[in-house]
Formats: sequence, structure tokens, C-alpha cells
Amino acid sequence: MSNVDRKDYGRIGLQAFIYYLVTTVIAAFTGISLAALIQPGKSSKHDSESSAGKTETVQSVDAFLDLIRNLFPSNLVEACFRKYLTVYPSSNSSGNPVGASNMSTNSPMAGTSDGINVVGLLVFSVALGLILSSMGTEGKPLRDLFFCINKAIMKLTTVAIWYSPVGIIFLLAGQVVKMTDAADIGRDVAMYTLTVITGLIIHGCVTLPLIYFIVTRKNPLRFYGGILQALSTALGTSSSSATLPVTLHCMEENHKMDKQVTRFMLPIGATMNMDGAALYEAVAALFIAQVNDMDFNLGQIILLSLIVTAASTGAAGIPQAGMVSMLIVLSSTGLPTEDISLLLMVDWIVDRIRTATNVLGDCIGVAVVQHLSRRELHTSSHAGTNQVLEEDSPSMNISIKIG
Ligand code: ASP
Repeated sequence: MSNVDRKDYGRIGLQAFIYYLVTTVIAAFTGISLAALIQPGKSSKHDSESSAGKTETVQSVDAFLDLIRNLFPSNLVEACFRKYLTVYPSSNSSGNPVGASNMSTNSPMAGTSDGINVVGLLVFSVALGLILSSMGTEGKPLRDLFFCINKAIMKLTTVAIWYSPVGIIFLLAGQVVKMTDAADIGRDVAMYTLTVITGLIIHGCVTLPLIYFIVTRKNPLRFYGGILQALSTALGTSSSSATLPVTLHCMEENHKMDKQVTRFMLPIGATMNMDGAALYEAVAALFIAQVNDMDFNLGQIILLSLIVTAASTGAAGIPQAGMVSMLIVLSSTGLPTEDISLLLMVDWIVDRIRTATNVLGDCIGVAVVQHLSRRELHTSSHAGTNQVLEEDSPSMNISIKIG
């Protein structure tokens, strides 16, 4: 967020932000609806077992209100390991009540539970990033520090990823040992893969082209023809960032999109706009809940959609980044993180298709925003803004570096 220069990109930035938010939320809801409809985690023996009430310790309204309370943590350090939770003293809640004086009543009380308050930390980070972006050179030292920490963590992650095959083998072995019937798990995972792919196809072939058509009144098929190269690169590399130079080429050369929009939106989109990842995370979370016979109530589903929207935004545009942010989704929704091994088996294919969906979302975003801002773009290109953008934009630097 600290990279976004609000003065230069005010209107385009706002439109891009709204587009990213709306499409990501739609993707998350598509995933949730499909997972609820198909029930991939209950395709086998699980469906006969009743699990109502297993996760009902927090009622829907309270789950939703807890989410709002968690948005603004009172203590940032505490938010790194505890979150707000409404507790019911008479029930068997795992949360710890705060101020236990009126424990005799069974009315809901303020409490906390173990776990990272991800949404609270995200809200703070976004606010701090925006403030830093508005501080200009004064905010640079802190911006540099965060960029440096981010780079160091990425390098550390790269080292850790070398060990992942060993970890995956043991995670899978753990699942196999627990299995009563391997065929059941195989069927569940196949259903899960099918559900995610169906969702990605719906989002990529129905929702996004519909948005494109409604806004621009142009033929989406012709648009798709111009970005086929970017989509196939995304399929091949599983990385939105690695695809970025091709995406820029397709949008600027094939579709003649304005560079003010492409050079601003595509680098940001490649790291922040992840419709495919949001959809996949929503399905995956519900799949793991179903495999474990846990039912999500309405409040938890709303919470889940917000968490996957935030987590997908935080995922980098690199292969299997969605798998990493999936851990955040699982821990924030109280689902067992070790079950991620079930998703790892098929992620090599799911990742490719969701990356193509991510890139498609970025491209349609550029077309939509360019269409909506065509008047300002026309005026500013006459005023020579292009020059300023090319010199100042940090996102421009990113695209040149990758290209
Ligand atoms: N591989 C995806 C991308 O680069 C991110 C993800 O894992 O969902 O867009």
C-alpha cells in the first residue's frame, strides 16, 4: 500500500481498488457456494455422520460482531497471538473470558482465544501503508525497512521451500496412517479438485466476461483472443509475477491499452488481485471443514469470505503462494492446519488454473478501469502525465525489473 501514490493515481487507484475488492469477493462467494453445493469433503462416508453443533460454540451474530471487533485490535502485540472471541460461560467454550465476575449468567461475555488476529493486523498494515505513501520522502526510511524485511523473509522462505518435499512426505504419511479407507480420501480430494476447477471456470468464463461486457459493451471473446499468450504463460509458469511482462505486452500491444493504466494496475494486480486464489481458498477451507465434519454457520461463512479476500490479497504472485496464505485462512478459522497436506497432492494443477484466473482478472481490471477513466486519461495524456508516471511510479520500476 505504501507504493501507491494517491496523488497521481487517485481516481484510477480508487476504481482499481473497488474492482479488485468486488471481483475477489465474488470469487470467494462462488467458491463458498460451490463447496456448499457439491460438498466435496462429504462425498464418501462422512455424509451420514451428523456434526451439528461441533463448531457452534460461537453463534452467527457473535461471530460476525467478533470479526468487526477484531478489525481494530486494542493491542498490536497481543493481536499477534490472541484474538477477540465472545464466550458463553455456561457452555464449553475454549475461549478465556475477560473479567470473570459475572460468570453465573450465561449471557455472552468478552473473551479472547489463541490464534493470530489476522484481520486486525491487516487493517493496521493497510492503514500504515497508506499513511506512509502519503508522507512522501519522510516515510521512505520506514518503507525501505519494510521492503528490506519483506525481501529477507522471501529469501528465508525460498530456503525453507527446499525442505518442503521432506515435510510433505511426512504430512501425507500422517494422513495415510489416520485413514480408515484410502479410497475415501482419494475420492474427496478428486471432488475437491473438480469443485475448484469448476469454480475457476465459472469465474473466468462467466463472471469476469460478464463484468467486462456490462462495463465496456465489447465482445469478451475478442478480448480473450488478445491475452491468450498471457493466459498460457500463467498456466505454464504458475506465477502471475513471472507472467507480468507477457501480460503487459498483450495489454499494451494487442489491446492498445493506455500505459498509465497498465503500468499502474498490472504490477499491483500481479501481487494483490488474486480472484483464483480467493476462490480456491474458500473451497479448500470448506473442504477441510467437511472432511473433519465441522459445519460452518452463516457468521463463520461471512468471516471466511472476508479472511480469504484478505489472505488472497496478501499472497505473492509466485507458484503455490496461495498454499502459504491458506495456512492463515485455516488458522484464523480454527481449522486443522495439518490437513493442508490433502491440498498439496493436487496443487500442481490447481495452482496453474488459478494463476491463469488471477492473470485474467488483472487484464479485465485494466480494460474496465481504462474504460471508466477514458475521459481523464485523454486529458492527462495531453497534459503529459505519461512522462511523470514513467519517472516516478514504483510499480513501473517493478515491471521494468521483471521485464
Ligand atoms: N501462483 C499464484 C499466482 O502467481 C498465486 C497462488 O498460489 O494462488 O498468481
